Amino acid sequence: MNGPSTLRRAACARCQRPQATCLCALARPTAHRTQVLVLQHPQEQRQAKNSVALLRLSLAHCEVVVGERFAPGALQALLQRPGRDTRLLYPDVPAAPAPPAPGTTAGAPLRLVVLDATWRKSLRMLLGHPALAALPRLALDAPAPTRYRAIRAARRADQVSTLEATVQALAMLEGPSFDAAPLLEAFGRFVDGVAERQRPRVSSDQA
Ligand SMILES: [Zn+2]
Repeated sequence: MNGPSTLRRAACARCQRPQATCLCALARPTAHRTQVLVLQHPQEQRQAKNSVALLRLSLAHCEVVVGERFAPGALQALLQRPGRDTRLLYPDVPAAPAPPAPGTTAGAPLRLVVLDATWRKSLRMLLGHPALAALPRLALDAPAPTRYRAIRAARRADQVSTLEATVQALAMLEGPSFDAAPLLEAFGRFVDGVAERQRPRVSSDQA
């Protein structure tokens, strides 16, 4: 018997989320060449509306490391694995120190580092880690309109979800061979589902 006192929130073995919000059916295998490394703020990991879980399930080469403060050695090891040039996906903003110019290794395979945090916390992560601030940056030309507005209205209008920003960056880097349309469509359905669950309930309070 599963009385309320013995009810456990069974997690999906693949996406690690509660069965009720399992994302696996939404995942859309998406081919790409650039390695993606997401440094995820611990607060984002616990957000039901966070977009990174769907991104990780869908991208072929996507690693997610959770943390707020990284030891310099450990961070360096994550960022500078041999064989790839590393770029930080980060907007051109006055609050952030100017990035160095990229080296002269045009055409080398890339690793894209993405900070998954609120705007304020991502700036703090950047300023708190010289190894991140020292990376050549990739800024999105003009962020596409976000599908996210329904569930994160407090964000700046030009801020997109981590999933959308990463997908847009991969499209910039890889050109027309990169097709993210199925993933973006699945993300739209994910946002709809979260918005649906956020709607206030009148009758019952689900456990
Ligand atoms: Zn799942």
